[in-house]
Amino acid sequence: MISIVIPIYNEEEIFHILHQRVTNAIVSTGEDYELVYVNDGSRDRSLPIMLDTQARDPHVVVIDLSRNWGHMGAIYAGLTTAKGDAVVLMDGDLQDPPEVIPQFVAKWRQGAQVVTAVRRSRQESRKGLGVLFALWHKLFDKISDFKIPENSGVFGLCDRQAMDSINALTERNRYFPGLRAWVGYRNEVVYYDRADRAGGEGKLSFMSRIKYATDAIYTFSYKPLRLAMFMGGLTLFIALMLAVFAFTSDGGRGAYLGLLSAVAFVGSLQMISLGVFAEYIARIYDEIRARPISLINRVYRADRATGLQFHEVPRREEQLRAA
Ligand code: UDP
Ligand code: MG
Repeated sequence: MISIVIPIYNEEEIFHILHQRVTNAIVSTGEDYELVYVNDGSRDRSLPIMLDTQARDPHVVVIDLSRNWGHMGAIYAGLTTAKGDAVVLMDGDLQDPPEVIPQFVAKWRQGAQVVTAVRRSRQESRKGLGVLFALWHKLFDKISDFKIPENSGVFGLCDRQAMDSINALTERNRYFPGLRAWVGYRNEVVYYDRADRAGGEGKLSFMSRIKYATDAIYTFSYKPLRLAMFMGGLTLFIALMLAVFAFTSDGGRGAYLGLLSAVAFVGSLQMISLGVFAEYIARIYDEIRARPISLINRVYRADRATGLQFHEVPRREEQLRAA
């Protein structure tokens, strides 16, 4: 069986077309499947619409989270609930075209354990953002201590073994594309053209994008920490040059200004280093508090044999298992 996991946050405008296109794509493969929709605390009619779909289509599983946990939290709940022998993950705004899924399945059938979808091109209604994303991928590729396929997002497939390995990683600040590359296994790439949103607005706020990008850097690179050492070396060099200059000059007004700027320069470098350390310390604090990555309120599904509808209330211990 193949599971398709899709996080949903306020997607009432496009849910029906999403469900239709995903269903068509997966049915064309002839595989048994389940569609796992994760309602990430939507404030619009997404949940009733999904439950209505679930009542009519026994392939659908709806996970209702306790609140809005963000993209990565929603994904985690979906991936740990999915039961398939292979799990496809995609966004719910149709930027990841469902028509690519049969290619993932074909690669998996040929023995791939992890299939990563790489963007050949991307359409963004917000033009500036597209350029920013491309720059970000270039920068991240340089900074990361670990090789992660460039221009990939969450879209892709993992077999059961790779999925279990990723789910067993309990880190709180999750950069999914990084984790998927990190676990290894037999990897394959599928190229696709990233579409624009099928409808509605982007659901990730500017701040949550910044959080996602910094998580990627701080959880996959030690280079920012080494930056402090590098800057220390730089200021030491400048200080020595100034000392030589001070011996050979005879003071005057310029000396005061020089002193002032040197103090400010060193101070700012120290603050930057402290800020970088703070980013790591905050993440260490997240890890030791060991709060769950997200909490599930209800899981709605139909019994596969009888078609009977029921819902599960996950036990507290189960949800804290990641801790
Ligand atoms: N999403 C979510 N929780 C959130 C924000 C977004 O589950 O707090 C979902 C959203 O419904 C979509 C996917 O995550 O299916 C990606 O979000 P979006 O398309 O807005 O991100 P973007 O394409 O703007 O990066
Ligand atoms: Mg999107």
